[in-house]
Amino acid sequence: MTLLIALAVLADAPAHAAECDLRSVRPPAETPDAIAAVVSSPEDDAPVRLAVGSLVLARADEVCGAEALVRVVSGNYWYNVGDAPVAMGGDRLCVDPRWLQPVREPWLLAMRPPPDTAPDERVPVGSLLTAPAESPVDCETASLRVGEAEIAVEALAFARPADEGQLLAARRVQEAWTHHFGPLGLEAVPYTDWGFVGLPMVRFSGRDEIRATWAAEDLVTEAQREKAVTSEGPRREDGAPYYLHFLGADPRFADLWARPGTLVVLIALIHGWSDHCVTVLGRSPEVCTVQVGDLAWYNGRRPDPLGHSDHFEGRCVDFRLFRSDGSRYEAYWNQPDDRPGRPDAYDAELTRAFLAFALANAPVLRVYFNDPTVHRDLAGVEPSPGHDDHLHMCFAGE
Ligand SMILES: [Zn+2]
Repeated sequence: MTLLIALAVLADAPAHAAECDLRSVRPPAETPDAIAAVVSSPEDDAPVRLAVGSLVLARADEVCGAEALVRVVSGNYWYNVGDAPVAMGGDRLCVDPRWLQPVREPWLLAMRPPPDTAPDERVPVGSLLTAPAESPVDCETASLRVGEAEIAVEALAFARPADEGQLLAARRVQEAWTHHFGPLGLEAVPYTDWGFVGLPMVRFSGRDEIRATWAAEDLVTEAQREKAVTSEGPRREDGAPYYLHFLGADPRFADLWARPGTLVVLIALIHGWSDHCVTVLGRSPEVCTVQVGDLAWYNGRRPDPLGHSDHFEGRCVDFRLFRSDGSRYEAYWNQPDDRPGRPDAYDAELTRAFLAFALANAPVLRVYFNDPTVHRDLAGVEPSPGHDDHLHMCFAGE
């Protein structure tokens, strides 16, 4: 009887399980600043982006010709170019093997899942795990050996390989943020493979929240809707956000990056400004909120895909002009609001006060903004084409 059961199990099992190597996705030497490979699934021709910083199980298989067949363990959703979906855990793809390299990062950091992702059984966010043990492993394995533990492959879906330098950079920003705003887990401090760190956001809006913002702010056209605020930073005790972020025409997550030193300066500036604005200037906390736009692309690639001449260094930040009505939308110094029935709420005095505060309290390298009344009152602000609806500010430091 026992023998019969054993034979039945054997008959169901494949002849021999295929073996896979665990690989980190990295750009080939010829394109060191590429953030994702364009790949396809063996069953489906639609292109997919396999992002640098993903973790995969790879093997040679004729279904992919000269390319490797990979099973994605963890996808790096932060690296979004916007032209194709980013490959995520469980996807099976054919990949140019030049993108696949041995895992040299010693750690895996469990990041937050992207917005609109259903809760699931995953490693707790913020956990720092030892990177999985040596290859090869069974391609269909249900779990991987991670340090002392055996962890389900699905539970690692948003774990991101991390090396010492990346962890140091992320911790530096985490520390500055915690100093000013309170505790923050490392899962909220994304990092790139080129030394940049993401401005920490407390919450990214899901699809329904973004729709609610469109309705609340009367954003009707495509051009207006892409200007909606899509994520928020910490809140003050009175409930007003210290800072918010809007995307403009950029793919989600593509414009949040900067040198760690720039973020340390920016975090201190925003915190200091908020106190100054409310306490010294006596303005309402809602109008003191800083609306942040573009920082840098994921790396110093030139020309910068976000369309700037000098954001590539990771030192520059775009801020919306301040408004007197608390609306989370753009303002121009020289144009009315483009939403019917909405007041022209550009607050020249508050915008000037923010610039003066930044010039006096942060290591500002240069500022571009075109309102001539600002140039009259403030040394250090220069006019530059295109700077009618935002302040472009760059900072010194590492
Ligand atoms: Zn700029």
